[in-house]
Amino acid sequence: MVSEFKITVFEGDGIGPEIMAPTLKILEHLQNTHSAYSLIFSTAAAGAAHYVKTKESLPESSLSLARSSDAILLSAMGLPDVRYDDGTEISPQIDLRKEFNLYAGVRPVVVRDGKSCPLIRPNGETIDFVLIRESTEGLFHTQGKGEVTETEAKETLLITRQVSEKLFDFAFNYATQRKAAGVGKGHVTCVDKANVFRAFAFFRKIFYERAKNFPDIDARHAYVDATALWMVQQPWNFDVLVTENMFGDILSDLGAGILGGLGLAPSADIGDDHAVFQPCHGSAPDIAGKGIANPFAMILSASMMLDWLGHRHNHRQMILDAALLKEAVNAVLTDGNSITADIGGNATTTTAANAVLQQLTVQ
Ligand code: NAD
Repeated sequence: MVSEFKITVFEGDGIGPEIMAPTLKILEHLQNTHSAYSLIFSTAAAGAAHYVKTKESLPESSLSLARSSDAILLSAMGLPDVRYDDGTEISPQIDLRKEFNLYAGVRPVVVRDGKSCPLIRPNGETIDFVLIRESTEGLFHTQGKGEVTETEAKETLLITRQVSEKLFDFAFNYATQRKAAGVGKGHVTCVDKANVFRAFAFFRKIFYERAKNFPDIDARHAYVDATALWMVQQPWNFDVLVTENMFGDILSDLGAGILGGLGLAPSADIGDDHAVFQPCHGSAPDIAGKGIANPFAMILSASMMLDWLGHRHNHRQMILDAALLKEAVNAVLTDGNSITADIGGNATTTTAANAVLQQLTVQ
């Protein structure tokens, strides 16, 4: 019997719909190839354009659709000019993380073989690490609720034992899987600022408590400022990094820079019951409507979705398809003839996505 999976699709703002359409086409191609699973896509309204029309950024009907689905695929949301009265932007992608307790933001940074990278890699070192960003608390805790007067502004950083334990267990399990698959080095680094803030001393203490349950994985720690330096100087030494929300927000853009740009950086926000898959980048209003957005980060996020669903439901073909899709994008990048302007080419979004489809048909 064919397994069916309900996927809620947020097309989002700016370039969102432009990169989502070819991604869905590719997913449809994959599921039709073996007919071993069926993805049932339902589009949900949310985002800046929706807010302008309705004064709602994430309607309850969209939330309940997402809640009842097996996975959520999201492009990018928000527009710089669309703001709440307090001056902050609407950001349903962050609301979803809090609503569904998506505490583990997974951001892989991989540079291997012939892929271009702004860093000099002595002996062509392979960069292959994963940043896990806590995505529900930290300095985002008071998002939209910070206290602002004429003379001062206050935001509160929250670290809870409950979320930290889940986060660290996720990171250690992730490192264990990477090691078993032969891609990881078998270590997890807690990235913090425990030398200055008691909250981070607490964060690190919990990290080492949880580490005891994973004796095969080496637990380490590093300060966030030093980590930023090492991400530029020797990123090939990292395996799994786990950190607080705001630190992860910043370091993941640094990671995207290392792997060639935001247009190549996928992500997954994972909780116990739900997961959202989306590129690291935003809605890129400066290039929206021009047909030149890079679709690869979105396509690679779809690959992460197939892999997550495949492992969760023990579905071998989905896991295989996830890997095939990643390889197809890599082949197009290595070939270099169908890449978009942000990474040095001149292909349109459609040409770049069609090249991935083409690769899938020849693989
Ligand atoms: P951005 O990521 O949208 O764009 C930064 C730069 O990268 C721009 O020059 C843009 O053209 C380029 N870029 C991004 N994605 C690209 C792609 N796929 N192909 C080619 N070039 C690409 O960041 P920003 O300009 O700071 O934010 C724009 C809007 O997106 C804001 O409203 C912001 O709040 C929102 N945003 C949303 C998310 C999300 O939905 N997860 C994340 C970040 C920003």
